[in-house]
Amino acid sequence: MGQPAHMEQTLAAPLEFSGIGLHSGAPVTMRLLPAPAGSGIVFRRTDLDNFEIAATGRNVAKVSYATSLMRQGVLISTTEHLLSAFIGSGLDNAIVEIDNLELPILDGSALPYVEAFQRAGIREQRRRREVLRILQPVEVREGEKFIGVYPGSGYRIEYTIDFPAPIGRQKTRVDLAAETYGTEIAPARTFGYKSDEKKLRDMGLIRGAGPENAIVLGASGPENGPLRFPDEYVRHKVLDLVGDLALAGRRLEGHVVAMRAGHAMHTALVSRLLKDRAAWELAHVPVASAAPASEARSEAGSGLGHAAMAGA
Ligand SMILES: [Zn+2]
Repeated sequence: MGQPAHMEQTLAAPLEFSGIGLHSGAPVTMRLLPAPAGSGIVFRRTDLDNFEIAATGRNVAKVSYATSLMRQGVLISTTEHLLSAFIGSGLDNAIVEIDNLELPILDGSALPYVEAFQRAGIREQRRRREVLRILQPVEVREGEKFIGVYPGSGYRIEYTIDFPAPIGRQKTRVDLAAETYGTEIAPARTFGYKSDEKKLRDMGLIRGAGPENAIVLGASGPENGPLRFPDEYVRHKVLDLVGDLALAGRRLEGHVVAMRAGHAMHTALVSRLLKDRAAWELAHVPVASAAPASEARSEAGSGLGHAAMAGA
């Protein structure tokens, strides 16, 4: 596999999540609604007269510990895990209603989203999907941090991290398809060092953080139970990267290399990419020869969900 669906997709039914924001600690209820073809991902603050903010690079706000969108002073915070789940699961169009400023952190991963999408089902829409196909390299370097995107088939990511002990250096390579995303990337949780906790709490940055939504790292390793993968940390960085690059507005077709990067580097790449009109084109996803369009279309709306998603 590895070939994304060639038609746009949305949710077959609404979904609801509630929880607290990782950084704000604020309680939030979030509803994900199906949206028409061509509409993309649009956030809606139901507590502010349904003010809407599209998930695009031009609405990126200040970025440090999380990625936030802002328009006319209205903020939507910590969008990366949900946007990652949308791209990873092949969803193009959705309305995201939230009644507070930050998305719920849930278990710190994107797995609750992916599982919920499979429950609700994924519906194929009557519009050809476009990917953002990379034509020329675009790179961002800042000291030892680096991120670059290159022409290539599929959506491949190579990520290297080098954190203080006990994480150290980890490297992973992923070829992003709905199947690999759901099992290899979505379950990886966010993480934080116990030694940074007081400083971050004093700064008001992790009011909602706890062992139920983040890997808590002590001097010798995680303090809250076994890891989901030995290299869960670098997998989570891939999860974040996919969510941040979603702000390019389309799934990428190309190869991404990231080293010691983070949200600021990820979104800097999106900005540079969108400005450099010679570096990419919007291209239709080719119809896979094994699944004629007529068959693929006959699955639409059947409620098969994952089967429809994998059907191209
Ligand atoms: Zn994250």
